[in-house]
Amino acid sequence: MAIERTLSIIKPDATRRNLTGQINARLEEAELRIVAQKRVRLTLDQAQAFYDVHKERAFFEDLCNFMITGPVVVQVLEGEDAIAKNREVMGATNPANADEGTIRKDFAESIEANSVHGSDATETAVREISFFFSELEIVG
Ligand code: ADP
Ligand code: MG
Repeated sequence: MAIERTLSIIKPDATRRNLTGQINARLEEAELRIVAQKRVRLTLDQAQAFYDVHKERAFFEDLCNFMITGPVVVQVLEGEDAIAKNREVMGATNPANADEGTIRKDFAESIEANSVHGSDATETAVREISFFFSELEIVG
């Protein structure tokens, strides 16, 4: 296993319910280190650019509109096997299918308002981290 970095986003449904600290605690309990973090309000253009890979999907427009309903917390997580580890801690996309003890099982409101985003592969992690952060902002 290698030390990896992955991009995490705490989505507007979670920032609205003041869950940033509780979600960060879950990440840290899983030995993921938050090596960069900022709270931002995305524009529609930025949300559409970030989710470009999903632009043909039926949920794309709704998803982008949801992501601009409030602030998000974008963060870089670092640790052993961080990409897969974060996906485990997050749980399945649809909270109805998420395992007990996962962030989405415990906090998500719906398949769309599912509290967190996590990169799904090495290449997407690199792209998504550089979408939000410069190297100078990442302190491991
Ligand atoms: P994940 O975030 O688990 O990697 P996807 O990359 O497939 O899931 O989808 C990106 C995001 O789009 C999801 O986290 C969720 O917010 C939203 N989404 C996915 N599928 C649906 C759906 N069927 N209906 C509404 N929103 C969806
Ligand atoms: Mg995804």
